[in-house]
Amino acid sequence: MIADWHALMSEYEHPQDIKENTYELARDFVASGLDPDKSTIFVQSHIPEHLELASVFSDLTPLAWVERCPTYKEQLRELKGRELTTYGFLGYPVLQAADIAIYKADAVPVGIDQLPHLELTREIIRKFNSLYKKHLFPEPEPILTKIPKLLGIDNRKMSKSYGNYIALSDTPEVITKKVGQMVTDPERIHTTDKGHPDICTVHSYYAAFADPKVVEEVRRGCENALIGCTECKKRLSKILIDYLEPIREKRKALSDSKVEDIIKDGGRKAREAASKTIGEVKRLINLAL
Ligand code: SF4
Repeated sequence: MIADWHALMSEYEHPQDIKENTYELARDFVASGLDPDKSTIFVQSHIPEHLELASVFSDLTPLAWVERCPTYKEQLRELKGRELTTYGFLGYPVLQAADIAIYKADAVPVGIDQLPHLELTREIIRKFNSLYKKHLFPEPEPILTKIPKLLGIDNRKMSKSYGNYIALSDTPEVITKKVGQMVTDPERIHTTDKGHPDICTVHSYYAAFADPKVVEEVRRGCENALIGCTECKKRLSKILIDYLEPIREKRKALSDSKVEDIIKDGGRKAREAASKTIGEVKRLINLAL
C-alpha cells in the first residue's frame, strides 16, 4: 500500500509532491521485485473504506493510547517548522490500524520502530472484537527482517520527511555524496584512532548490504585502525551503487502507463476486499445499510 493519506497528515501545507511520490513509490515496489500479479499494489486514498474503518476505530480508541505513541512525540520534536499538533496527525496510528484490519491481515512486515504502532493496532482490534462480541479481525503479528532497523545517514530514524535517506532511484553520484555525509564513530577523530563499528552508521549499512566476509574485514580494519573512514565510505558507496544498479535500471524501463495500470488493477482488487470487510463491520455494529 502507498500511504498517501498518511503523507498528507504531515505534508498538508505543501501537498504538491504527493501525487508524484505516489507513482515513484509504485515504481520502487515493482523495480525492487514485487510482482503485481502476486502482490496487490494500491494507493490508500483510492480505497475510501480505510477511512470508514478508521472512523469506527477512532470512536473506541482512548486518547491516552494515541498520545503515548513514541513516534508521535518524536516527530513533533523532529519536524520543527510544521504545525503537527493536529487532530489528524494524532490519529495517524488509528488509520494505520484500519489499513491493516480492513484486509484482516494476520501479519505485517514492519521496522522495529513501528512495533508500538502495531501493538496499538492489536489493542484496538482486541477492543473492537470484545465490544461487538465477534472475532472479526485477527490480531496481527509483526514480521521483522534480519535488519529490523536501518538509520538515516544522519543517524536519526530514516524518513522521507527528514531527507536523510538513500533513494532507490539515486544516481551513483548522489549515493557517493550521501555516503560521504554519513555519521561515523564520533570518537574516531584521527585515522590512527581505533574505531567502534557498532556505533557507526556506515558499518550498519555494511551489515545490511555487504558480503559477511567484507563486513568482518571492515570491522577488524576499523577496530584496529587499519582503514580510515574516507576509504571505508568509498568502499560502501561502491557496494550500494552496485546493489541498486539493477533496481535503477528496472525503474527506468517501467513506463508511466504501466505504473498507472498496476495501481488501477491493484486498487480494484483491494477495494473488493475492503468493501466486503466494511459491510461486515456495518452489519455487526448495526448501521443501516
Ligand atoms: Fe565507521 Fe568505517 Fe570509520 Fe569505522 S572506519 S568508524 S566503520 S566509517
